[in-house]
Amino acid sequence: MLSKDEFFKTGEIVNLAEEVVFEELKALIERAEIEFCQCDKCLFDIVCVVLNKIPSMYSSSIADRTYPSPEFKADYETLKQLAAEELPLAIERIKERLHH
Ligand SMILES: [Zn+2]
Repeated sequence: MLSKDEFFKTGEIVNLAEEVVFEELKALIERAEIEFCQCDKCLFDIVCVVLNKIPSMYSSSIADRTYPSPEFKADYETLKQLAAEELPLAIERIKERLHH
């Protein structure tokens, strides 16, 4: 069996929640509607807060991800919606207790 690092580095296992949160955060930054520190440390904190709030969506099938079923697509859209709702809350939380 592979070591833990090797196991997860194959890229076969993906938590799509990570992708969704990253993309939603990027979109939010581009819209520039909310002012907040965008250093790596703060962005890491914000992403962790959101990832702990929303369900994970693990997939080990590149085929599922490339040719998503309607159910897969619906789950993905729900996750996107949740991430979009949670991000501003996470930003407020991190703002209140800056780590630097
Ligand atoms: Zn910062």
